[in-house]
Amino acid sequence: MNMRNIPFGFPLIGDEEKAAVMKVLDGPILVHGPVSKQFEQDFAAFSGAPYALATANCTASLHLCHFYHGLKQGEEVIVPAMTHTATAHAVELAGGRPVFVDAELRTGNIDLDAVEAAVTSKTRGISIVHYLGMPVDMERINAIADRHGLYVIEDCALSIGAEFRGVHTGLWGDAGCFSFYPVKHMTTAEGGMLITKHKQMAEKITFQKAFGVDRTAGERSIPGVYDVTMLGFNYRMSEVHAAIGIEQLKRIKDFLVRRKSNYEALTNALRRIERISVFQSSQGDFLSSHYCHSVLIDKRLSKHRVDIINSMKAAGIGTSVYYPRAVPDFTYYRGKYKYPDTAFPNARQIAECSIALPVGPHLNIDDMEYIAAELEKNIKGVQRNG
Ligand SMILES: *Cc1c(COP(=O)(O)O)cnc(C)c1O
Repeated sequence: MNMRNIPFGFPLIGDEEKAAVMKVLDGPILVHGPVSKQFEQDFAAFSGAPYALATANCTASLHLCHFYHGLKQGEEVIVPAMTHTATAHAVELAGGRPVFVDAELRTGNIDLDAVEAAVTSKTRGISIVHYLGMPVDMERINAIADRHGLYVIEDCALSIGAEFRGVHTGLWGDAGCFSFYPVKHMTTAEGGMLITKHKQMAEKITFQKAFGVDRTAGERSIPGVYDVTMLGFNYRMSEVHAAIGIEQLKRIKDFLVRRKSNYEALTNALRRIERISVFQSSQGDFLSSHYCHSVLIDKRLSKHRVDIINSMKAAGIGTSVYYPRAVPDFTYYRGKYKYPDTAFPNARQIAECSIALPVGPHLNIDDMEYIAAELEKNIKGVQRNG
């Protein structure tokens, strides 16, 4: 097979996105105007959310959720050890303490059996991630939250289009936060969305994402005159970003179909490879958004992971690692909370032994066969070399 160019992620920006951006730039309104409102309405319609708020990015959305709940110093929020650091950072930024819970090896998601044991008298909330787009069993999370009076925030950065029991992720908890960073399912360059079913939460966060100012520019009877009724951030999305989002959202169903067929083709092709395992794919009431295919190489091969990744790169295949460390092992968290070396064995195994393979809509079924063939060859190669 010939050498190919298979990037891990590649934003698919077409003429429609470009024209929409130029239209905004030709007009007078670049922030808090009708385009971001339209994007919010479109996203609400797509996800089934009663309320959708466009934000600067997913991290800002997560921060807003904890800020809204008035998290105080010393209070705790349960978070997965295996996630993007943003899930934990949002808790820290709001002044709380993230309490990490290990992953389950079957799905990579938070170990549901360990969540309730992590609840203390200081726990205020649970913030889960739908790891690589595979939904967490939100009925179990909500049952635990109900028993202890906790709020629930879903990090949906990788789970647009993913559903649990026919309900879009982000609508089981009190809020769901999405990312439109370039390598995610759809992009606005930088951008995020916060969805919720609570009217009061949506109304207050609308102010909190815009300095706590009591009315938007359009609502001011005297230009420039307003009051500030609460503390807030500048976490809005611009009209330029929203214009890209509206066009990308029109294509999301197609993107998701292509991800699914690539994922399924890769799943089949990976079956013949020895000494790897894959996370369980969607089944039953779990509809995945197929962010990528992460393979776990045998523990004894983990010292060769970088060689395998480099060989894949030499064959033109972009890979990634989701995520490179269990979050409590990042220097910042390790220094602050000093978890023992025996904690989070599954999250650590995923961090050390996984290689994330692309299945994005920029690729086709043929690419999947090529990726699997290269992976098989390179795993055999490192085994031969000891
Ligand atoms: C990418 C990602 C984020 C961060 O999203 P931004 O929009 O870049 O802030 C948060 N959580 C998860 C799980 C992610 O994958």
